[in-house]
Amino acid sequence: MNLLFLDGRWQPASDAATREILSPHDGRVVAEVAEATAEDAVAAITAARRAFDTGAWCRTTAPERAHTIAAIGRLVADHREELAHLETLDTGKPVAESRVDMDDIAAVFAYFAGLAGSEAGRVIAAPRAEVASRVQREPVGVCTLITPWNYPLLQAAWKLAPALAAGNAVVLKPSELTPLTTHRLVELIDAHLDLPGGVLNLVLGAGPVVGEPLTTHSDVDLVSFTGGIATGSAIMAKAAATVKRVALELGGKNPNLVFADVDLDLAADHALTAAFLHAGQVCSAGSRLLVEASVHDTLVERIVDRLPEITLGDGFVDGVRSGPLISPEHRAKVERHIARAIDQGARLVAGGRRPDDPALAAGCYLEPTLFTHVDASMTIVREEVFGPVLTVESFADEAEAVDLANDTVYGLAGAVWTNDAGRAERVAGALRCGTVWINDFHPYFPQAEWGGFKRSGIGRELGIAGYDEYTELKHVHHTLRPAPSGWLPTG
Ligand code: NAD
Repeated sequence: MNLLFLDGRWQPASDAATREILSPHDGRVVAEVAEATAEDAVAAITAARRAFDTGAWCRTTAPERAHTIAAIGRLVADHREELAHLETLDTGKPVAESRVDMDDIAAVFAYFAGLAGSEAGRVIAAPRAEVASRVQREPVGVCTLITPWNYPLLQAAWKLAPALAAGNAVVLKPSELTPLTTHRLVELIDAHLDLPGGVLNLVLGAGPVVGEPLTTHSDVDLVSFTGGIATGSAIMAKAAATVKRVALELGGKNPNLVFADVDLDLAADHALTAAFLHAGQVCSAGSRLLVEASVHDTLVERIVDRLPEITLGDGFVDGVRSGPLISPEHRAKVERHIARAIDQGARLVAGGRRPDDPALAAGCYLEPTLFTHVDASMTIVREEVFGPVLTVESFADEAEAVDLANDTVYGLAGAVWTNDAGRAERVAGALRCGTVWINDFHPYFPQAEWGGFKRSGIGRELGIAGYDEYTELKHVHHTLRPAPSGWLPTG
C-alpha cells in the first residue's frame, strides 16, 4: 500500500516518506501508505497532461470508454467484500454499511458507462442555409479529484466514473485519513484493465501539501473537490488565478421538517437515521429537526426512547449500529460544539459524552446527542458539526417552518414529512437546497443529480449534469458551400 501511482507506474514518495493509517475504532495502525510530496503531485499532473494531450484515452470512442468504466464497476462488485472490509477498517463504519457503499459504487460506474456510450451531442437548427451546425461534448482535460474521509470510495467513484467516461486524464487524491479503498481500486484497475499510462494517477498525502499544486498548477483544467466549506472556498480562490473550472461539494446543515399529521413513530425512526447514520458524519445528515409545535414533545420523547438502539462499537461486530468518529481531533471538535451549545443555553436532553464501555475507550466514540431549546442564534444550529448531534426546534405553521429551514448559509438537502400532498409540494418547492425528500430521508441514486444550493457547493455530481461537469461544449459550424464573407468588396 505504500506506493503512489504516477504515469502508469507504482512508486514511493520522492522523499520516501510514509504515513501510518490509524483505526478510529481502537487507534491501532492498520496500514502504512506513501506520503507524497508536492513534487510528486506535480509529476502526476505532468503525466496526466501528457496522457491527455497525446490523446491515448480522450480520442478513444465513447463506447470503448464505456466498456472500461463498466468493467471498473464489475471489479468493485467482484471485490465487494475485500473493499467493504478495508472501508470499515479505515472509517470505522459498520461493515454492512460499507457493503451498501460498494453496491452503490458499482451502480455509479454502471450508470456512467451507460451515459458515456449514449452521449452524441446535438444538431443545431442553423439560421443560415447550407450550414451544418452541431454542439458536441469534449473532455475538459486534466482533472484533479480531491475527496473526503466520510465516504471515501463512494466520493471517489462519483468523480472518477464521469471524469474517465468523458475522456479526461485525472489525478485522484483521497483524504489522508482514509486512502485504503481508493488505493486498492487503483491497484485493481491497473492489474485488470488497460488504461493508458498517465490517464489515472493516484497521489496520497496531506491536503495543504499536495493540494497546493493540485489546485494551482497551470496544467490543471478542473478541480473537483468534496470536503469542508473552508477548504472549498480556499480552493476556489486559488483556482481563480488560472481560471480553472471548479466543482465543489461542500457541507450541509440540513433541515428535517415534521408536520403534526404524520405517523410520529415513522418520523422518529427516520429522524434518528437522518441524524445519526455513520455517527452523523454525512454531508446530508438531517442535523436540524424542525417539528410542528403541537407534536414537538411527543416526537422528542419517541426519539429519546429509541436512542439506546444506536449500539456503538466495532464496525466488524454484528449488531453494531454506529462506529466512532474519524479521529481524536474530529471528536474534540464535535465536543467543543457540544460544550458551546450548552454555554449558549441549549438544553442537553441526551448524550453529549463519551460512552462508558471500556472496550470503546481507545476509540473516537461519542454518544448520540440531542439538544432542544435551541434557536438560530446558536452556533450548534448554524454550523456544520459533522458528528452525532441533533438539534430540535419547533414551528407554528408552514411559513415559519420554511423560514427556519432556509435560515442557513448551506443548501445541500432537506426533508418534509406530511400527509398533505399539497403542503409537501409547496414546502419542497420553497426549500432552498439541492435535494428534497418527501416522507423519507437520505436515499439517493446515480440517475439523480446531487449537489448544493448556496454555500453547499457549485455544480452537481451524479446524473446527466454530473457527467456534463467533466465536459466542455464545442460548437462546430460547417459551411457546406464556402463563399466570400461579404465584408470586403467582391470582384
Ligand atoms: P476537508 O475539507 O478537510 O478535506 C477534504 C479533502 O481536501 C481531503 O482530501 C484533504 O486532504 C483535502 N485538502 C485539505 N486541505 C487542502 C488544500 N489546502 N488544498 C487541497 N486539498 C486540501 O474535509 P473532510 O474533513 O475530509 O470532509 C468533511 C467535509 O466534507 C464535511 O464538511 C462534509 O459536509 C463534506 N462532504 C460533502 C459532501 C457533499 O456531497 N456535499 C460529501 C461528503 C463530505
